[in-house]
Amino acid sequence: MNDTFLPDIARLVDVRDETPDTKTFTLHFRDLKNREDFHFLPGQFLELSVFGYGEAPFCIASSPTRPDTLETTVRRTGQLTDALHRLGNGEEVGVRGPFGNGFDVEAARGRDLLFVAGGIGLPPLRSLIWNVLDERSRFGKVTILYGARTPADLVYKQELKEWGKRSDVELHFTVDMADASWTGNVGVVSTLFRQISLKPESTIAYVCGPPIMIRFVVQDLLALGFKAEAVISTLERMMQCGIGKCNHCAIGHRYVCRDGPVFNYSQIRELVE
Ligand SMILES: Cc1cc2nc3c(=O)[nH]c(=O)nc-3n(C[C@H](O)[C@H](O)[C@H](O)COP(=O)(O)OP(=O)(O)OC[C@H]3O[C@@H](n4cnc5c(N)ncnc54)[C@H](O)[C@@H]3O)c2cc1C
Repeated sequence: MNDTFLPDIARLVDVRDETPDTKTFTLHFRDLKNREDFHFLPGQFLELSVFGYGEAPFCIASSPTRPDTLETTVRRTGQLTDALHRLGNGEEVGVRGPFGNGFDVEAARGRDLLFVAGGIGLPPLRSLIWNVLDERSRFGKVTILYGARTPADLVYKQELKEWGKRSDVELHFTVDMADASWTGNVGVVSTLFRQISLKPESTIAYVCGPPIMIRFVVQDLLALGFKAEAVISTLERMMQCGIGKCNHCAIGHRYVCRDGPVFNYSQIRELVE
């Protein structure tokens, strides 16, 4: 029987710089059986271990529609992420998971989709965005709004260009502080609402980013007429086991690792108020 607490070994086959403090890691399970058995939903996360430093949760940033690629995008914030950033191609890490509920892709079929991301909030949404784009005809209008502090802090710059060229995606991005090279929008991500038209009654909004950004964006969405159930976000809490045993991420009767990390705003309101 598989032991959920025992990590499988994965090799880093690609390490890409996204921003000065953020990298994307492509993982390849060493064991062919692990590769074949690993199935996930957008919005689920991994517990990734760096040997000698410990383990931490990271969202899967790649799409289940591309099962040969497993990616996670990590910002350097402390000991473990610093150690991970020092690893290069060919080095090995431990992987447990996938964990969590993930986004309900079936419920999104036929609906218009609005993605609103701030900074490092784009990686979990990227998994769902690529899932949707790989099955494009099954979804309505796709709008992506993305904001970062500065142009250097935008992740997935190549993909932003690619999405921007597509006729079946409406993409707007912005930075809080421009530099000399920047000719695009300046201002927080919610200023981009002025540039788009939405049908709140038939749209699902996915919002991911720093808590302050989520708070303001959700307020705007509710004011625009979105129902709380149609506004979806992911919660970040300190967590350890990933499977609802250790109690680290419990809020009331819910475990963010097991019942989440994806919740609609109605559920989030119930949890945090
Ligand atoms: C479900 C989930 C998904 C996540 N996905 C990603 C991801 O895709 N990319 C990414 O870069 N980070 C992600 N995180 C946050 C990531 O787990 C932390 O940044 C990491 O644990 C920090 O470890 P550290 O030892 O480097 O830093 P530490 O020294 O442990 O902490 C550095 C700073 O990060 C904060 N922090 C530590 N752990 C967490 C945590 N679990 N949640 C929120 N803040 C934390 C600390 O309060 C401190 O301010 C996710 C967290 C959760 C719960």
